[in-house]
Amino acid sequence: MTLGPLDKPVQFLKGVGPRRAEHLQRMGILTARDLLYHVPRRYDDASTITPVALAQVGMDVTVAGEVRSKGIVPTRSGLRIFQAVIRDESGLITCAWPGQAWVERNVRKGDRILVTGPVKHFHGRQIQPREYVILARAAAPAAPGSTGSTGPPGSPGASGSTGSPGSTGPPGTIFATYPASEDLPQWIFRRLFELNLDKLIGQVAREEHLTASERDGLGLIELSAALRDLHRPPNLARVETARRRLAFDELFFLGLMKASVRHEATQQRPGITFVRTNRLIRALHDSLPFVLTGAQAAALREIYADMTSARRMNRMLQGDVGCGKTIVALFAMLLAVEGGCQAALMAPTEILAEQHARRIRQLLRDLPVELEILLGSVTGRRRGRARARVAGGEAHLVVGTHALIQEGVEFHSLGLAVVDDQQRFGVRQRLALSERDPRPDTLLMSATPIPRSLAMTLHGELDLTTIDELPPGRRKVTTRVAGPGGRPAVLREVCRHLDRGRQAYLVYPAIEESERADLRAAEAEFERLRREELSGRRVALIHGRMKGDEKDRIMRAFQAGELDVLVATTVIEVGIDVPNATVMVIENAERFGLSQLHQLRGRVARGTEGGLCVVIAEGSADDSRPGEASLRPPPTPRPPTTPRLQVFARTNDGFEIATADLQIRGQGDFFGAEQHGHRPDLRFTDFMKHEDLFRPARDRARALIDDDPELSATRNQVVRAHLERRYGDRVKLFGVG
Ligand code: ADP
Ligand code: MG
Repeated sequence: MTLGPLDKPVQFLKGVGPRRAEHLQRMGILTARDLLYHVPRRYDDASTITPVALAQVGMDVTVAGEVRSKGIVPTRSGLRIFQAVIRDESGLITCAWPGQAWVERNVRKGDRILVTGPVKHFHGRQIQPREYVILARAAAPAAPGSTGSTGPPGSPGASGSTGSPGSTGPPGTIFATYPASEDLPQWIFRRLFELNLDKLIGQVAREEHLTASERDGLGLIELSAALRDLHRPPNLARVETARRRLAFDELFFLGLMKASVRHEATQQRPGITFVRTNRLIRALHDSLPFVLTGAQAAALREIYADMTSARRMNRMLQGDVGCGKTIVALFAMLLAVEGGCQAALMAPTEILAEQHARRIRQLLRDLPVELEILLGSVTGRRRGRARARVAGGEAHLVVGTHALIQEGVEFHSLGLAVVDDQQRFGVRQRLALSERDPRPDTLLMSATPIPRSLAMTLHGELDLTTIDELPPGRRKVTTRVAGPGGRPAVLREVCRHLDRGRQAYLVYPAIEESERADLRAAEAEFERLRREELSGRRVALIHGRMKGDEKDRIMRAFQAGELDVLVATTVIEVGIDVPNATVMVIENAERFGLSQLHQLRGRVARGTEGGLCVVIAEGSADDSRPGEASLRPPPTPRPPTTPRLQVFARTNDGFEIATADLQIRGQGDFFGAEQHGHRPDLRFTDFMKHEDLFRPARDRARALIDDDPELSATRNQVVRAHLERRYGDRVKLFGVG
């Protein structure tokens, strides 16, 4: 790959000397391209900026103007207040930073500044900024006391001020705010782009990888136009069209990376061509106590087609809790056994593995199929015997935990690897089961429904089967939302279930009070409930800090009916079956993601009776996102039944819930909750706004890789260079290029 001008170190740019280059590096900005992609985190336009004359006490405003005077005002209480008077065309207003005297060092007389915050009454109107941004530096650091640390040493652009500092710009001007640091305040970024943007944009134009007709088809603008508009938008609508273009690129290159992994995993190596004799499949069909749902049957058709083809299967099976994925996996495993191979099913915990083994044994009791179970807790001679049966081929089906992938486990002829609840395994663990030689077909199961377009993208290396239907006659879980005041009544209701011999879950978001003082921590509540409302009941506590075998012991006791109530954090197993548990109470429900609530609720949908789920919400917290709180006005109290929880109470459909969660909370929180972590490779993509781009991006990526797997054709050079830049390390890992 040739190093273009955009890949040169930032130091070659105008306005960047060695010192500034070092500061930029510290922010992760190493090349000209990095700078170009350092885009504003916020925009203000004339409609969001209030003329200072119109700022009234009680309002929350953003104003822009020139600093006319400044100083530190001591108070009798010892608090030092930095004050600055700013002026725009409409007049003057005081801004005050109580207790933040250090701001004085950053703000100079003559600076053009943008501030956001509430207008208070204090010897007249006064803005107390939550945020301030220096839009343009005063011409010269006049103040003799200035430390010079924020000055622009040696920078050629420093003295040439931008426009007229006293004006807020022509109407309609957009103020962009960049992510900045102490060493690199706002105005430096603005200055750097003034000096360099035009040239950088010219260079980007040469890297366009979509033809005009492709762009038109997708409603996208040119890459260079998008980057220009992000830095200098003529209006806010253009920021949106710019983001849309960059979102497409993100999705497309992620798609390419996934497509090349997929190519490597499925096309590159031959799969096993299973021969379907129907010997076992038919027998299981005939003995099933129920009929498969249409969605299950359709899923099986896709899986059978993969397995009986020469291509290797690499498929994800997603579906709501209780939609019947296990039985689908079992049919697939029987097809492998009919074909003379072994099949393995890996579950995240011993209890789940045992539950699978028990159910499968029950379903296959009349069939000539041998099942072995491999668990970490089984050692010594018993383990040796189990491993020998797996290695010798006497065992056809092998169910277990990660003990399946431990050293020393040999399969006689593993043809199909199934991973249950796949997101609870690391990539390496998943691969350890499926990337042995010869390579078995792979089926990954996920019980956390996410919108199809999203699944298609995030798991683009896999083919996707979605079961979107629950078996008929399934009892619905009744869901109610209560405020804290309803707690006593809820506990009385729990006790009525217990009196009838039923069991209950009480779920809390945290373990210890200290984690978050306002949460009703599981531990403290456990102690209290045991003494008070639940005295005389058999109650146990289970949480994520316990050791695995300790958790298993408590879950087993609950399963066996030796406990009435489980006070738990969110560790209660996904997929665990305790049909006698009919009621669940979730405290501080406003802190949980909806999908997580839905997973939890699935625990009481297992019996023949309809379950009851009561979520208790603490009123006001629903909209405060951690980390941003300090930048926002204090949350106003709300009634406990938030829109989110209403959606949750209204529907039992996991896909609908995931979509609503995404819509209401935004994707940052959504992914936080789903433990996917942040996705730096999807900075511009909005899963809702850009939903129509997901499929075209993936399809274009797959088509390109199918056509030219190594992207070695001349016409694909640009795309390949982009891909390596974005995913360099990972692309190499998977052997492309
Ligand atoms: P999942 O793993 O998708 O959460 P399971 O495979 O554990 O769901 O199935 C949940 C329950 O539904 C099991 O008890 C299973 O036997 C039952 N079940 C599966 N498919 C059907 C069906 N088509 N009709 C009735 N019950 C079914
Ligand atoms: Mg399951």
